[in-house]
Amino acid sequence: MEVLRLSEYLAGHHYEHRNEVFALFEREPELFRPRHDLGMRESRELLMRRWERLHELGYFKNTITSSKPENRLRRMALSETCEYLDHSLAVKMGVNYGLFGGAVYGLGTEEQKDYWLPKVERREIIGCYGLSELGAGSNVRGIRTTATYDPSSRSFVLHTPTDGAQKYWIGGAAESATHCSVFAYLIVDGKRRGIHGFVVQIRDSIEGSPVHGVTIADCGDKWGLNGVDNGRIWFDRVKIPRTNMLMKLGQVSENGEYTSIVKSENELFGRTLAPLTAGRVSIIFSALNEMKVGTSIAIPYAKSRQVFGKELMSVQTHRHRLLPYVCSALVINVVANPLKLQLLEPGQVVTKNFHVLSAGLKALSTWEMERCLQECREACGGQGMLSENRVGPLLSEFNVTTTFEGDNHVMIQQASKVVVNMYAQGLKQGVFGGDLDFLNREELPLRGEPNEMSFIVELMRRRVRGLLPALVPTSGTSEAAEKELVLFEEVGTAFCDLLIFESFEKELNSSTELPCKDLLSKAGVIYGLSRIDRESTFSRSGALSSDASWSVRRTYMKELDRFVESGMMDSAIEAFGVPDFLKAPISGDWLSHNAKAKL
Ligand SMILES: Cc1cc2nc3c(=O)[nH]c(=O)nc-3n(C[C@H](O)[C@H](O)[C@H](O)COP(=O)(O)OP(=O)(O)OC[C@H]3O[C@@H](n4cnc5c(N)ncnc54)[C@H](O)[C@@H]3O)c2cc1C
Repeated sequence: MEVLRLSEYLAGHHYEHRNEVFALFEREPELFRPRHDLGMRESRELLMRRWERLHELGYFKNTITSSKPENRLRRMALSETCEYLDHSLAVKMGVNYGLFGGAVYGLGTEEQKDYWLPKVERREIIGCYGLSELGAGSNVRGIRTTATYDPSSRSFVLHTPTDGAQKYWIGGAAESATHCSVFAYLIVDGKRRGIHGFVVQIRDSIEGSPVHGVTIADCGDKWGLNGVDNGRIWFDRVKIPRTNMLMKLGQVSENGEYTSIVKSENELFGRTLAPLTAGRVSIIFSALNEMKVGTSIAIPYAKSRQVFGKELMSVQTHRHRLLPYVCSALVINVVANPLKLQLLEPGQVVTKNFHVLSAGLKALSTWEMERCLQECREACGGQGMLSENRVGPLLSEFNVTTTFEGDNHVMIQQASKVVVNMYAQGLKQGVFGGDLDFLNREELPLRGEPNEMSFIVELMRRRVRGLLPALVPTSGTSEAAEKELVLFEEVGTAFCDLLIFESFEKELNSSTELPCKDLLSKAGVIYGLSRIDRESTFSRSGALSSDASWSVRRTYMKELDRFVESGMMDSAIEAFGVPDFLKAPISGDWLSHNAKAKL
């Protein structure tokens, strides 16, 4: 009962709805059973049939046109559920509803929202999101596409000046999308006015032909996510009506006068890219949910397999290889749930703190997932190589999450920048503010035991305290710090870890209703100890002495054993709630599955 409550708590919202979607998948296996044996063409076709079926069943009703958080959360629940089955499906729907729809929603006027969003919801059009170019991905400011206002025809002229400026990787563009939210430098009366969004028709109908002036090419076969038709787009002086510029932040009048509600180009840039923040939060859930799938396959297999006369899951290395990921999935889940709700609060402005936590968590969770799935693949031995056992294909399907919607290194650097600036400012003023407030207090001898959350959080603080002076000496500037990029990223990682564990501890202490609190706090301890044991920055920063590091190691190993022997591991896997049909033959009776009689 308690485990069921944990399952519901981890889902965060729309628990019943998620189960209904799983039930649909199970009822219609022809369409919705996992397929990892298809080529690019079949994957794309299957994706479109799956999406059409969900649309036909009314799953998207009111989820795009309504601004109520409840409706948007329902769509997120659907998308998260689809990810257990088909990452491409979730990504393609996410690009259409979340990025294209999100661009119109976040950057469009009320009139523009009323015009475009019902078309998206009714699936009369399919949208894609055109930001990246061949020559500029992470460096968004380096894009070269232009949108020049022509007052005589009251239109914008979209143009791709060079091959480097072709839009590249655009999900949905290669075959199906009719419209694209194109990001381009606005030029009015010869003056550049920063990057703005424009709705541009690129195809005459869904899966139809490119419209005049638009050239589209297919990015081609990828080693994962092949259901998504990523495409390349060139604009050859394509004219679009003035009203297709998304005009919430900046406006161009009929006679060519530019006005804006934002104060600076920096602010314009940040707010223009805001829809990506929601995308990043979704990616955190992709990461933690796939860790749930991976461990829900690898752990039952290890429990049912004998090696050298022992149950595989009783072997210390196996516990050490798999359990930290069960625990990190739980911790990240607990921290990410309130983040998602915060994002949907009416009038929510993306604060610096929110940005750091979402960007940092996106990077750390997707790297964690990548390691987890690779470890699960190896932990299943040869069976891990079979596509039907899912873990390997999931690794290639989800690998891209470390790159898109903000490359992980670039994301971590954004966190680094915030903490380094905060620190440099504190040095100047003689007092540290915000999340660095703890630096104002003298460091006391480390108290408590390594299996206590407070001990772990304190070590995380000490690491930040120890690393910052190495990067920003008293006389240094934050600009100089960026020259030592490896250390710069280590500081960002240390800061993100601290925010994650502080949020986790806060959530644990503040919620009286928390189900399986003991299990969650043990998960926090194990994930924390795994970070401390794995990262050399704890010793380099002086946070951890050699003696203390041995004590951490011994406690870590003991806690892993306790997690198994107390039954917490089994409860966690049960609470993950991955339905059997979305696991793999090796997580069940794999001997019967492979019986000669079945040939
Ligand atoms: C499958 C897929 C789908 C996508 N879908 C879309 C889409 O629908 N719409 C869209 O607009 N874009 C999309 N993208 C593009 C995606 O957002 C970019 O690939 C991403 O932003 C990275 O840009 P890049 O590929 O140019 O790599 P680059 O930015 O060139 O990065 C290459 C390497 O350099 C490193 N690097 C870059 N900058 C720095 C730095 N400052 N410091 C240290 N290291 C650095 C990175 O870590 C990376 O390892 C998609 C990409 C893929 C692969």
